[in-house]
Amino acid sequence: MKLRVVVLGAGFGGLELSAILSETIGDNLDLALIDKNDSFFFGFSKLDVMFGRKTPDAVRLAYRNIVKPGVRFRQEAITAIDPETRRVTTDRGIYEADVLVIALGADYDLNATPGLIEGGNEFYSFAGAERLREVIPTFSKGHAIVGVTSTPFKCPPAPSEAALLLHDYLTTRGVRADCEISLVMPFGIPIPPSPATSKALIAAFAERGITFVPNRLVRALDPARRVAILDDKSEMPYDLFLGIPKHRVPDVVAASGMTEDGWIPVDRKNLRTRFPGVYAIGDVTSVGTAKAGVFSEGAARVVAASIIADVQGGEQPSAYNGAGSCYVEFGADRVGRVDVDFFSGPSPTGSFFEPSVALAGEKQQFGSSRRARWFGL
Ligand SMILES: Cc1cc2nc3c(=O)[nH]c(=O)nc-3n(C[C@H](O)[C@H](O)[C@H](O)COP(=O)(O)OP(=O)(O)OC[C@H]3O[C@@H](n4cnc5c(N)ncnc54)[C@H](O)[C@@H]3O)c2cc1C
Repeated sequence: MKLRVVVLGAGFGGLELSAILSETIGDNLDLALIDKNDSFFFGFSKLDVMFGRKTPDAVRLAYRNIVKPGVRFRQEAITAIDPETRRVTTDRGIYEADVLVIALGADYDLNATPGLIEGGNEFYSFAGAERLREVIPTFSKGHAIVGVTSTPFKCPPAPSEAALLLHDYLTTRGVRADCEISLVMPFGIPIPPSPATSKALIAAFAERGITFVPNRLVRALDPARRVAILDDKSEMPYDLFLGIPKHRVPDVVAASGMTEDGWIPVDRKNLRTRFPGVYAIGDVTSVGTAKAGVFSEGAARVVAASIIADVQGGEQPSAYNGAGSCYVEFGADRVGRVDVDFFSGPSPTGSFFEPSVALAGEKQQFGSSRRARWFGL
């Protein structure tokens, strides 16, 4: 009997898990990888798309390219998850699992921020980034705000990256002098685990005349008056609002009864949920790392090793270390890197690597290595 593994969500976590299991126990594997979309894209490609650096088609990786022993990709919408019986219902059928892995990521709740839909934009969804391709070129004068509306949010460097790339974009178009850029962030510094990265970002903002507004969230937009209302009730006028919307688990996860305080709790050492044979990895959990692809991937590696140990009778892997490297776009074609370690010490720490053209190449390599491993492209 082959091991029936059902992986919900073909993002960073689901793709990495499926690739490892296929490589290692593919002959004894019957793995269904289920996602409602027909293609994957890296989170960071949303920045490329919104600023017109790449076309949407250039960054899409079609799931039909996945050809791996023991793995079948199914493009279906998951409509119910029963963690007690490890039974999953989709719009096309029912799956029974020996091992169930939930890797469904975080969705967005645009309605949680009054005025955002009518008077602003968001760049965290692919559709939002695609819309902004049309909107940003029309902005030539006035005040642009990049604003976080709620915590937690994916990829904490992304708002800073958006502000820096907007600066470059407006400079190239010759309109930067007519525009102001502000960045509203809920933290005292841009990347709390890494004071050195934060210092470099704050210096980059200062050099470029970007106003950093720390310790604040944008609670609402008033589209009629074109003002953003912050959590201390202060107001900032805006002409272009680039928002980071409130995050939440997908509806199907909320309805599964698996969440506590909004996310799926897991044992952080091994990513097991309280339901036997059910793991959860990545953004959908409250594991305690930042919500970023590298951490979903790291968690997937631990779960894969644990499943393989169960099958082969080997030792269980060492505990998940919550460590990963995030690339940070500084603009001017330079990329920095921060290596963050969430679990080794009493509080998260980060090591900073100065922005360089070499690290821009390393980030490209990060993307192309995943493209090859997951999609054979
Ligand atoms: C602007 C931006 C920049 C970013 N930059 C980086 C970066 O540089 N480095 C980095 O590591 N991370 C980055 N991220 C974060 C990264 O994209 C996410 O943290 C990562 O994708 C999470 O992986 P995951 O596997 O947990 O979930 P996801 O990759 O989000 O995958 C979840 C999958 O579940 C599917 N799904 C959800 N609900 C259903 C359903 N009901 N039925 C079927 N399928 C469903 C979705 O379609 C999706 O494919 C960035 C994010 C953004 C928005």
